[in-house]
Amino acid sequence: MSRWESLLIVQEHDTRADQLAHRVQTLPARAELAAVTEQIGAVDRNLATVESRRGELSRSQQRLEDEIASLTERANQAEKQLYSGSVTAPRELQALQDDVASIRRRIGQIEDDELEIMELTEPVDAQHAELTAERERLDGEAMRITAELAETEAEIEAELAVVQAERAEAAAAVPDELWPEYDRLRAHLGGVAIARLAGSTCQGCHLALPAVEIDRIRKLATDETVHCEECGRLLVRD
Ligand SMILES: [Zn+2]
Repeated sequence: MSRWESLLIVQEHDTRADQLAHRVQTLPARAELAAVTEQIGAVDRNLATVESRRGELSRSQQRLEDEIASLTERANQAEKQLYSGSVTAPRELQALQDDVASIRRRIGQIEDDELEIMELTEPVDAQHAELTAERERLDGEAMRITAELAETEAEIEAELAVVQAERAEAAAAVPDELWPEYDRLRAHLGGVAIARLAGSTCQGCHLALPAVEIDRIRKLATDETVHCEECGRLLVRD
């Protein structure tokens, strides 16, 4: 076995670890969660608008109710005076009666206004209920995806731990002098520093080496350092 074989085993584990890391980064659940989070944001913005409209209507209604209460109090006072016997002059009695009637009419008008506000509030309340239900549904969805994501991540982490333990074992068999170039090439060549030469094809870039080059390589000892002419990767020969 050439000294490069031990490094190729490390490469296989590093490639596997890279794939697992990539899988963690690109789990579909991650994109799903981002989409749901965005939807939650949109629902919250709508809810804020609806709640502000609801607040306005509720304050308007409260103002009208306060006005009704105060007018009712005034009408009651006037009626009390009217029936107390303290006012006897017909003109004064008439004035009081007119006053009460006028207040009662005003109360009737305000009650109509209040009814209008209540009618306006109905669809806003319905919209609020709808948005709140949608928010709850999305919260549930987000929780489900988050749990699913955590579970998948834990599975991949466990797999990665196994790969890393095996990698450490394989790395112990690699001669020290091979590491600097391995690390350098791995950083520059998309994580793959070393590949097998299968026939005349480099398994790193999948290109065939020229026959002249293959002839030259065949004459070298398998422990010799050989790079693929095309991609620059270290080549392992049988
Ligand atoms: Zn190559």
